[in-house]
Amino acid sequence: MKYSSLVDIYEKIEATSKRLEKTYYISELLKKTVEKDIPTIMLLIRGRLFPDWNKSKIGVASKLVLKAINTSSGAGISTIETMWKEIGDLGLVAEKVISNKSQSTLFSQDLSVEKMFSNLRKLVTMEGSGSVDRKTQLIAELLSSAKPKEAKYIVRTVLEDLRVGIGDGTMRDAITWAFLPVKVDFDFEKISIEVDREEYNNSANIVQSAYDKSNDFSRVAIAAKKGVSELEKISLIPGNPIKVMLAQKVLSIDEGFERVGEPAMIEYKYDGFRMQIHKFSEQIKILTRRLEDITKQFPEVVAYVKNHVEGKSFIIDCEAVGFDSKTEKYLVFQHISQRIRRKYDIENLAKKLPVELNVFDVLFYNGENLLDTPLVKRRALLEKIVREEKFKIIVSKKIVTSNKSDALKFYEDSVSKGNEGVMLKSLNSPYKPGSRVGFMVKLKSSMDTLDLVIVGAEWGEGKRSGWLTSFTLACIDDNGNFLEIGKVGTGVKEKAEEGLSFGELTEMLKPHIKQEKGREVVIKPEIVLEIKFEEIQASPTYSSGYALRFPRVIQARDDRMPEECSTLEMVQKEFEGQKKQ
Ligand code: AMP
Repeated sequence: MKYSSLVDIYEKIEATSKRLEKTYYISELLKKTVEKDIPTIMLLIRGRLFPDWNKSKIGVASKLVLKAINTSSGAGISTIETMWKEIGDLGLVAEKVISNKSQSTLFSQDLSVEKMFSNLRKLVTMEGSGSVDRKTQLIAELLSSAKPKEAKYIVRTVLEDLRVGIGDGTMRDAITWAFLPVKVDFDFEKISIEVDREEYNNSANIVQSAYDKSNDFSRVAIAAKKGVSELEKISLIPGNPIKVMLAQKVLSIDEGFERVGEPAMIEYKYDGFRMQIHKFSEQIKILTRRLEDITKQFPEVVAYVKNHVEGKSFIIDCEAVGFDSKTEKYLVFQHISQRIRRKYDIENLAKKLPVELNVFDVLFYNGENLLDTPLVKRRALLEKIVREEKFKIIVSKKIVTSNKSDALKFYEDSVSKGNEGVMLKSLNSPYKPGSRVGFMVKLKSSMDTLDLVIVGAEWGEGKRSGWLTSFTLACIDDNGNFLEIGKVGTGVKEKAEEGLSFGELTEMLKPHIKQEKGREVVIKPEIVLEIKFEEIQASPTYSSGYALRFPRVIQARDDRMPEECSTLEMVQKEFEGQKKQ
């Protein structure tokens, strides 16, 4: 397929904010795409090079792209920089610069989707000396044979910032419209569809379920093109990460019961970090909730799983909690977060900051997919296969009850042991990867915090020069837009020994800088911070419509994806909750 055909679709999708219209364009594109191109198209349509379960990044800095635009167009670096400052999007800059170029491009060859894709993938593997030059050269080559609009999307794809806003739901629906045997009439005038709802939901559910198991829309689309029976053959594969199920928040035991039903399974909510652990062909793989592989950082956990969990192949869902080996007291997440990042001296750190693995779910066992098996049965299996040993591996502590006072007592027990609160879970619920569907809810004890994404900052002055300071924070709305909710500097330390420092945070943010204007820096939403605050106020200053009073940084949540940050709905709920108190 010609890259220009894909670019036409990008343009149409970018021009509308209507989900149904976007779905229509992608479904039409899919219908036209030959099978061999489907995997590539499914990725490139969202500006990606790898399926969701693969965390490889292109990781090319804006400065390098700027040089590539300069090489391919002959426009001066300072001219490009000035335009970038004015327009704020290097993609648009590339489009403009290339369209000013001499006639010669008119005779250049058509760029194909395959070439574009394979060249971009090369960028990911280029390492070592001279790699910056080779990367610049490669991008410049692509841009040289590109038409202006193509240049815009090449640059945005390289910078992993496509800006067309396509969510998982849109992808699922586009595959359903394109390939499932359900009639969908899209009305362009009214931007609405006419369908038999029940039939449609059934079809969409089949696609969703295949995606839940594979975490890979390319694989799902190819199977869907072949037919429903192929889709239904898609199963979990231990070793391939799947998204973790997320929890909604409740403010009381009553609300918890209301949400998950009675009786409910109630468990301690441990304050550690999530580990999805796979066993396959005698191998153990540990993933964070961002699905990053942290197996190497946790050799002792690998040993616990090998020695204490029975089974040839499985996927288990767990929370790793730190404890002090001398006092045998559990520690909050903050203490052990460095274990996720540390790449050297791992054995020593493991001794200094040991973790206990609390297993709370099993999703796959000895060849069998358990996602649709009711929680009570999954739990019963878990209790059979895990041989518990305190401070190594245990099954999460639980009760099953519909009695409010028992539930409250259990909650108080949990908090008194230093846990965050409790989780309430529906007894008969399936496991829904990636969703906050309300099959499990969390009830926390402490004053609330929000997990917010950094989208901007300011370069410091005086003794803080060279550091990013005053961080602009954002929450996320239903459409995946990041909305600003305030600025924070308090809580970040000047000295690294005292906790999360400006220096450390600056290093974390630098690769994600999108644009700079004077001291102001725009940052790609990547880094999540846990923020404490006194109060939420309604405010016209920020795009969320809210502002935080006295925000304070508690810690970086390296284990969280930006899309997993606090939602606008949570902020609204918190705001309403305050008014009631
Ligand atoms: P939160 O991080 O506040 O959204 O709360 C949900 C997180 O609590 C999950 O992602 C897990 O990492 C953690 N967690 C701790 N204990 C449990 C448990 N017993 N069941 C499920 N999740 C738990």
